[in-house]
Amino acid sequence: MHKYIYGKTSDSNGQHEIHKSTCSYAPLFFNAIKIGPKIDSQSAMETAKNLNPSKCFYMCQHCCHTWYINQPESIHL
Ligand SMILES: [Zn+2]
Repeated sequence: MHKYIYGKTSDSNGQHEIHKSTCSYAPLFFNAIKIGPKIDSQSAMETAKNLNPSKCFYMCQHCCHTWYINQPESIHL
C-alpha cells in the first residue's frame, strides 16, 4: 500500500496530477490533497475521480505506472 495525493492546482489542461506521497515530484503539503492509502495507482485514480467527478486526473510518470493514463496528451516529456 502507498499513500496517494493529488495536486490542488491543475496544469494548463485543467488536469490534476496524482502522486505517491513519497514522490520527489509531488506537490508540497499545502498544495496537495490526500487520496489516502491505496493498493495501486489505478485504485488511487478511481478514488480521486469518485471524489471529484468533475475533475480530470493523470498519473505522475515518475512515481506511478504509466499504463493507466486517461489523457495521454497531457504528458510532458
Ligand atoms: Zn509523482
